[in-house]
Parts: sequence; C-alpha cells; structure tokens
Amino acid sequence: MDSKEFREFGKAMIDYVADYMDNIRDRNVLPSVEPGYLEKLVPKDTPELGEDWKSIMTDIERVIMPGITHWNSPHFHAYYPTACSFPSIVGEILSAGLSSIGFSWISSPACTELEVVMMNWLGNLLGLPETFLNSSSGPGGGTIQGSASEATLVGLLSAREKTVKELRENDPSLSESDIRGRLVAYTSDQANSSVEKAGLLGAVPMKHVPADENGCLRGEALQKAIDEDKRNNRIPFYVVATLGSTGTCAFDKLEEIGPICKKEGVWLHIDAAYAGTAFVCPEYRPLMKGVHYADSFNYNPHKWMLVNFDCSAMWFQNVKHLVESFNVDRIYLKHQHEGHAPDYRHWQIALGRRFRSLKLWFTLRIYGVEGIRNHVRSQIALAKYFEELVSGDSRFEVLTSNLGLVCFRLKGDDKLTKDLLQKITEKKKLYLISCYYRNKFVIRFVICSRLTNSSDVEFAWKEISGIANEIIPRKFFENVKMPSISSIADSCKNNGIVGLNDAFSKGAA
Ligand SMILES: *Cc1c(COP(=O)(O)O)cnc(C)c1O
Repeated sequence: MDSKEFREFGKAMIDYVADYMDNIRDRNVLPSVEPGYLEKLVPKDTPELGEDWKSIMTDIERVIMPGITHWNSPHFHAYYPTACSFPSIVGEILSAGLSSIGFSWISSPACTELEVVMMNWLGNLLGLPETFLNSSSGPGGGTIQGSASEATLVGLLSAREKTVKELRENDPSLSESDIRGRLVAYTSDQANSSVEKAGLLGAVPMKHVPADENGCLRGEALQKAIDEDKRNNRIPFYVVATLGSTGTCAFDKLEEIGPICKKEGVWLHIDAAYAGTAFVCPEYRPLMKGVHYADSFNYNPHKWMLVNFDCSAMWFQNVKHLVESFNVDRIYLKHQHEGHAPDYRHWQIALGRRFRSLKLWFTLRIYGVEGIRNHVRSQIALAKYFEELVSGDSRFEVLTSNLGLVCFRLKGDDKLTKDLLQKITEKKKLYLISCYYRNKFVIRFVICSRLTNSSDVEFAWKEISGIANEIIPRKFFENVKMPSISSIADSCKNNGIVGLNDAFSKGAA
C-alpha cells in the first residue's frame, strides 16, 4: 500500500468511525451471534494475493459488526466505561504512525518527556500530593502502564523486592528463600479480580480481608489479619486498597488503613481504576483522604477520562524501589544521558512501550480541565437521575449509588431480580450486569458511554420497568411517580452533584 492509498483507506475509516458514532443508537448494544460465528465468515487461510482495501471495508459490517458488543453505545451500562473520544483516537493514529518504542530516553526523547509532563498534568488535575510527581529533586514519579492489573502487579513486585532487600540488610543471616516463603499481601474481599491475580503472578498469598457491611476495608479488620499472620511468623509486605470497588464503587478507609501500613512497614498501593477520574472535581477529593499514606497510586484514564484503552496512570512516592527491582541493564541499552530522565523500561514489565502520552495530551488539550469536569459531573448527575426513576417505583429498591453507578433490585426474593436481568439481557437493547451486595443479588447500572444523555436514561428505565411488568404486574391502582426535574435538581443539590444542567441540555461530553 502506498501513501496515496493509505490516505484513501484512512479517510474512509475515519468516516466509518464517525458514522458509527453518529448512528450508534440504531444498533442493539449486545450482539446476536453464537461462539464460532466468525470462522464461518472468513477464509481458512491468508489470501494468496493481496486484496483491495475496499473489500476490507465491506467486510467490517459483514464480519465484525455482528460480533461487537457496543461499549460506546449510550445503552451500555455494564462493568465500567471504556473511555473513547475523538481527540484520543487521533492521538492513537499519530502514535501508530510514529510507532516509536520508548523504552529509554534516547529511544525517543519526546516519548519519555511528554509522558513525564503529562503525568504531572494528571497528578495536579487529580489533586494528588506533590510527592508523587516527576521532579528532578524528589524521589516520586509517574508513568503510564497498560492496565490497572499491571499496576497492581508492578507495585507488588517492587514491594516484594524492597522487603527482601531491607530484611536482609537488617539481618544478613536471613536467607532470601526463607523471606520469600513467608511474605503475605492483603486486599479486601471486594477487590477486583486482578488483585488476586497479581498475588498469583507474584507468587505470594493475597489474603482477602472481609470488608464492612458497606463494602469498605476498615483498619481494624486489616490490623487483625496482619497480627494473626505475624504471630504465625509470616511477613506482611503489601496492601492493596480500593477507591471505587468494581462491584458497588465502595471506598476503602485510607485514613484507617494508611497509618497501619506505615506502622507495619507495609507498602500501600491504591487501586482507583474507575473512581480516580472523579478526583478531577474538587468536590470528590474527600473520597481519597489519606492518599498521602500510599506508596503507589493508580487509576485508569482509559475508563472514565475519555482516553482510549490502554492508558493506566501510576505514581510512586519513591521510584528508587521500583527501579532497583526492575533494573536489568545490557550494553545495548546504555546511553549517555542516563540518570537525567527516566528510562521507563525500569518502571514496567515489558521492555517496549508505546507512545501513549500523545492521546492523553490531545484529550486534555481539547477538553481542558473544564471539559473533563463537565463530563464527570454530568455523568454522575445522570446516574442520580436514574436512581430517582428507580426510587419512584415501589417494586424496586436502590441499594447503593456512588458516582456513576447505581445498584438496584426488585424487592423480595433474588429470583425476581435474576429473572429481570435475564430478560433484559435477552432483549439486547440494554447491557447491565449483576453483583452481590449484603448477600443480595443486585443489578449494576453504570453511566458508561460519553454519548449517554437524559433521554437514554429514560429509555433504559422504560425498558427495565416495562420488563419488570412481566415479572411483577404493576397494580392498576398504583401510581408510579415520574420524578419531576425540580425534585431531581433538589436531590442533586443535597448530594453536592452539580452537573445536572449540562447533563440535561447537552448530554455528557
Ligand atoms: C476495572 C478495574 C480494574 C481492572 O482494570 P484493567 O485496567 O482492565 O486492568 C482493577 N481494579 C478496579 C477497581 C477496577 O474497577
């Protein structure tokens, strides 16, 4: 393919993606295919002769689209959002075009230097303590990882090596294998599955400390677990606290956990994958009170901050521990500017790394602080709107409502809610998933797509309440209230939610 054809192909694809976004409401959010569907639609082997790009374009609707779950659909309310915005997509194009691999400063200075600056922009945007930022004087620093899962593992590995090194310095008679065999890490039973996986990959037990009845990890429970392990001659070394749990968006109590970690000499990592984006709004920063206790902090701009996957921001109070754990030098990686800028290969698992800060830079510049804040606030206001709609129907109960996530169920036996979710999923017009809260089966409703507006929320509620009629017929004498906008406005005001007007006038971002 020459550059002339590339221009045509590329422009056709941009048009395709723009049309896809403009008309996304015409598609069911869930696909109707069965496993193995795709194999039947494509040849068994690579074509012998090269094809025309136009034949690829026509195959997108035929082969790919039938098997897409539309994460960008305003009717996608499952999991958590996947971020997607036009400036970020354009950033990915440039990154692909340059295709530089920025493992060291010299391998592409702009790749390292833009990332250094962007991580400071982001740290300030979230109101993180300055000790986390990249600077020539302090030991802190930030980098972009591929995912929150990797960040949790990277934190674990550096905590592990730091602990082994320090214990051996204190007591050279301790053998390395003895220390490694006694290490133990902690998280709550509400933590994301990736935290458990980090324990498996790092070959250390990851203990699940029971969260309280609100899904939060508390200091007392953590201390109890640590004390018990110490009595059994184990070595506690790593705690993963969650800000915004995947199930219900619960917040662990950092102000209780942090001092315990400090006292016990245990590395505290914070996983704020989804909720971290909310801290761009000062009114949500109280939720991260105690963040200064953390040794490492991570959140995913690729979830809620409009930067396409993958982009997971991670900061350290002291990068030295990380670099010492991960530094494997070879003569071919040496360069004359070592020590003056980070060689990010020491901060991550892989050697190679993409130019991910470009899409971050584009997105932050196009939206500005104001645009990002409006996005977050209006999505939270839309969740509040949904909560009000559910609360107005006496067959339903709302169990939790945090940021963009509302957990609700039909009153009564779990079976009713399970039936409801199954019927919703079968219709494919909405995508929601479940979780357990206080031993009850609940449906999670998350405002995910950047395109979701108040009409989409009303659409979702009409679908859900309509399907509920098949399970619990609404009594003919029962008046179901549709909340008035002014009652929602009052409710938002009482909850410090300020994005309502934007949410109703223009949708989110
Ligand atoms: C989504 C999520 C993760 C996983 O994020 P990846 O970037 O896909 O690894 C981890 N922790 C929490 C709390 C999450 O919500």
